[in-house]
Amino acid sequence: SALLEIQDLKAKVRDEDVEILKGVNLTINKGEIHALMGPNGSGKSTLAHVIMGNPKYQITSGDILFEGQSILDLSTDERAKLGLFMSFQTPEEVEGIKMRQFLINSFRNIHKEDKITLLELNKVISQLSQNLDLNGEFLERYINTGFSGGEKKKSEILQMGFLKPKLSILDEIDSGLDIDALRIVAENINRVKTGNMGVLLITHYQRILNFVVPDYVHIYIDGKIVKTGSEELAKEIEENGYSTLEQEMGITI
Ligand code: ADP
Ligand code: MG
Ligand code: MG
Repeated sequence: SALLEIQDLKAKVRDEDVEILKGVNLTINKGEIHALMGPNGSGKSTLAHVIMGNPKYQITSGDILFEGQSILDLSTDERAKLGLFMSFQTPEEVEGIKMRQFLINSFRNIHKEDKITLLELNKVISQLSQNLDLNGEFLERYINTGFSGGEKKKSEILQMGFLKPKLSILDEIDSGLDIDALRIVAENINRVKTGNMGVLLITHYQRILNFVVPDYVHIYIDGKIVKTGSEELAKEIEENGYSTLEQEMGITI
């Protein structure tokens, strides 16, 4: 079965009437990288949150299958244990918990059966941090607290590399990065994306796709996927903008 299969998914903000996801269909197989591109406010982050089970949102129809099983009844924590991971568009600052401790706690929570020692885990953390050009002191700081924009995004990729999810959902991991940080972030996405990992790369811009090459590009407008293609589609969007496509397809928002 597919890694992730989203079937005609509709969702709204809980206790409000406005529908945000308006019938999303998406299948991601093991090992595939899917880029999801769309204008601001189209509901990309909402889709990511709904896949992870954020209780702010309520599903009104459709289903989400992970490795063939519906995950709609599972909590976010249970979904993480199945192998789902999401990096936040705006990572939150958490005072009182240091990065290193957070990483180790999360790993132990998700990989309960794994007997890897603390020493080994710390070695892996050091290697991943080095690759991301993050110094050791970074790991002793509170989660995201006072981190620069680039450090926050790198810390998300550090988590992805360390937790080894089956599916990584990266929500605008490229936003706010200068070209050097973008390069490092992209290199490390490629490095930690092991053979079978699926990736849903949510982005507004084509730029990151020069470094992380997608198998499929989906254009997402007003709560659903309106067009699917290859890398070329992303380049067209970069040249012509979303509004040209909207006009072409007769979409009015
Ligand atoms: P994108 O990530 O594509 O920019 P979002 O998913 O963040 O889009 O938002 C899509 C729309 O849903 C926006 O109009 C936004 O204001 C609305 N929305 C998202 N989450 C909430 C929420 N928790 N409460 C109210 N409105 C929301
Ligand atoms: Mg946005
Ligand atoms: Mg967003």
